[in-house]
Amino acid sequence: MSDKPLDPQDWSRFRADAHELLDHCLDLLQGAEDRPWQHPPEDLEDRYAIGQSQQQNSDLMTRLRDEVLPYHAGNTHPKYWGWVQGSGLATDVTASMVSAVMNSNCGGRNHGANYMERAVIDWTRRKMGLPETAFGVLVTGTSQATVQAFAAARVKVVGKDVRQQGHGTQRLTAYAAAGVHNATKKALELIGVGSDNLRLVPLKKGQMDIDALYTMIAEDRAAGALPFLVVGTAGSVNLGFFDNFNALADVAQSEGLWLHVDGAFGAWTRIADEPYRSLTDGLERADSIALDFHKWMYVGFDCGLCLVRDGADLRATFAARPDYLDGKDRGVASGEPWFCDYGIDLSRGNRALKIWMALESFGEDAFSAAITQNCHLAKQMAQEVQAQPKMALGQETISNVCVFTADKTLSEAAQSELNVRIAVELQESGQAVFSTTKVNGVEMLRAAIVNHRTREADISDALAAVSALSSA
Ligand SMILES: *Cc1c(COP(=O)(O)O)cnc(C)c1O
Repeated sequence: MSDKPLDPQDWSRFRADAHELLDHCLDLLQGAEDRPWQHPPEDLEDRYAIGQSQQQNSDLMTRLRDEVLPYHAGNTHPKYWGWVQGSGLATDVTASMVSAVMNSNCGGRNHGANYMERAVIDWTRRKMGLPETAFGVLVTGTSQATVQAFAAARVKVVGKDVRQQGHGTQRLTAYAAAGVHNATKKALELIGVGSDNLRLVPLKKGQMDIDALYTMIAEDRAAGALPFLVVGTAGSVNLGFFDNFNALADVAQSEGLWLHVDGAFGAWTRIADEPYRSLTDGLERADSIALDFHKWMYVGFDCGLCLVRDGADLRATFAARPDYLDGKDRGVASGEPWFCDYGIDLSRGNRALKIWMALESFGEDAFSAAITQNCHLAKQMAQEVQAQPKMALGQETISNVCVFTADKTLSEAAQSELNVRIAVELQESGQAVFSTTKVNGVEMLRAAIVNHRTREADISDALAAVSALSSA
């Protein structure tokens, strides 16, 4: 028995296995098109049950090959467009290796990963057009970013005593377009505002109806509530709608509300070519933005960002350092600002490295091109749908989301049944992954293309497969 039982007993053996595994992993990623999602075997959980005894490293490598790697979620495949799931990058492999070796805790203190996270946040801030006062923190995803941004909004509008005292019986109200992502509802529940106090503003041409918004705010004030937050959406999850951010910023300004933008995927049209880039005009006026890198910046899960126009607002919401976390001028405990003062987490992993490596190795322009290309592909899908006699779009394609029905000649119920059956059969046969969503009472096929591996032929092939199943 070695005197370091949690280190490899035989480093040269471990090294050889690890090299082989790395090669195997890279082969899989390079051949991602040959590896669609497949149904995990029924006994997989039993196979994963933790055993009592130590295993030979080589046995473990075999199990990784045969029992772990094959049962991935499918989203590295070029014909995966379900929900909104990024396709993952080769640089994630090397980045995760480097970050494992560094094992950085990015809650604070003085070490390189925090400098890198600040560089990544600063790059994003510039892309989103926020001023130099803006700051943020990398988080699991937009859901967590939303909670943090709303908490900051509440402190800003209600006052900092709310941290100690809560907002008591004061009824706070928030506003978002009908169709806002569930993350907004959850976040309001978590910060104690309650989802009943989320007003869903009707849409007018795919955007929040500004007159209706003013009316609702006035009604709530008259009823004694305190309106505090308006949530704009850059890329709604179902249909890919974009609010008019300049109009929302005007409302927020005149009514004294905080303007938050859910830009989980759509905020990245900001670095695409026209006509997509202008979809986010006015985004630069937001008080906070929540966005993801693991969707439309393609990096591996998980990684989102809570970005706030004035970093001091985030600090006023989260900073609280007990004695044992006191910063120092020199040594490991120096290195202000510490990220633990800007969000929920104290211990946090290094999420910045995979973004940094992706941007440094492929270049920002490659991301702009991939995002633009994804929008073109969604448009191509929409055009092919319209060229088919029986298919119909559920909604005009604005950026990268295409929603359609396979056979508009059927009743609503029969269309829903058909679309769901097609989605499932295409998933199970490994041909393509669409998800489904309801539009005007019909459950439709939905593609949200955040996949840098998709090519034009993939779109045509998938639609041919839909058509074949529709007439089967
Ligand atoms: C995915 C998504 C979210 C939630 O983001 P997570 O990263 O999954 O937590 C919120 N809003 C929109 C519009 C989304 O697409």
